[in-house]
Amino acid sequence: MKCERCENDAAYVRKYSGQGLCSGCFSDSILRKMAKTISKYEMMRRGERIGVAVSGGKDSLALLHALSRIAGDRDFEMVAVTIDEGIPGYRDEALEIASEYCRGLDVEHHVYSYGDLFGITLDEALQARGSEKTTSCSICGTLRRRAIDRAAADLDVDAMATAHNLDDVLQTFLINMISGDTKKIGWMDPSSVAGPSRRIKPFGEIYEAEIVFYAFTNGIPFQTEPCPHMNEGIRTELREFLNGLEEAHVGAKGSLYRSVLKVAASMRDSARVEKSQCVECGMECTGSTCAACTTAARMRGANRMQI
Ligand code: SF4
Ligand code: ZN
Repeated sequence: MKCERCENDAAYVRKYSGQGLCSGCFSDSILRKMAKTISKYEMMRRGERIGVAVSGGKDSLALLHALSRIAGDRDFEMVAVTIDEGIPGYRDEALEIASEYCRGLDVEHHVYSYGDLFGITLDEALQARGSEKTTSCSICGTLRRRAIDRAAADLDVDAMATAHNLDDVLQTFLINMISGDTKKIGWMDPSSVAGPSRRIKPFGEIYEAEIVFYAFTNGIPFQTEPCPHMNEGIRTELREFLNGLEEAHVGAKGSLYRSVLKVAASMRDSARVEKSQCVECGMECTGSTCAACTTAARMRGANRMQI
C-alpha cells in the first residue's frame, strides 16, 4: 500500500478511515492533529510559557517532541516538569531519560517530589495505608494533580500540558462512572481550569496507538520499566476492553469520545462550584483543605503511628 500523500510505502494504516501514510507523512499528520486540537480549545496564546508534565514514558516524551516542533511557529516557551512519586527502582530510569531528552531539546527541566511537597513519599503512604481500600493509583493521582499545580505556580507557567490521549480520556470517564465520581466528568475537556492552573491536553483527541507509532517512528526513547502498581486499579482492564471494542467495532472509541464531551459539557454547566483556598498549601480548592493535603496528612499520621 502506498502513502496517501506521497510516493513512499505506507507505514501506518488508520483503520477507522482506511488512510495509509508513510512515516514522515504520519508524523506530520500527528502534528497537524495536535495543532488543530490546540486551536479548537484555545489551549495557548502567543508568548505564553507552557509547562509540560514529562514522566519519561512514551506519551509525555512524544508530547515534548511534538510541541518542540511547533513552538517556534506558535511562539510559546516550554519548561518540562517531572514528578517524582518516590517509588523505589521505578522513577530513576524515567528521570534519567527525561532529563537527557530535555537537554537534547534544550528545554529547562525541573523535578518535584512528593517527599518535598507533602512530607511523605508514595511508598511511605502506601505502607501507611494499612487495611484502607484506596488504590495506589488513587492516592498517587490525588497527590500528582496537586504536585503539578504547585509546580505550575512555582514555575509561573500560563498552562500545564499533560500527555493524556483519547484512550486515557475514555478510560478516565469509565473509571469515574464506575466509582460514582460523576463530578469529575465535568472537567474532562482537553482544556480545562479545574485546578488553579490551566490544564491542557494537546494529545487529547489522538489515539494511544498513534502516539506509540509516533514515538517509535521518531526514535523517541522512553522508560521501559512499568510502575509496580499499574495493574492494581481497573485502568488496564478498561484499556483492554476499549481496544477489543474498537477492534470489533471500528470507530467505537471516536463515538464514545464525542459522547464524553457532550456529557462533560452538560455536567459542567449544572455544577458550578464555589472555590476557596486550602489552609495547608494555599492553593485553590473546594473546601478548607485540598484533597492532596488531606490525603498526605492522613498518611503521615498513619506512618508515624507505625514507627
Ligand atoms: Fe502512580 Fe498508579 Fe501511575 Fe504508578 S501507575 S505512577 S501508582 S498513578
Ligand atoms: Zn508520505
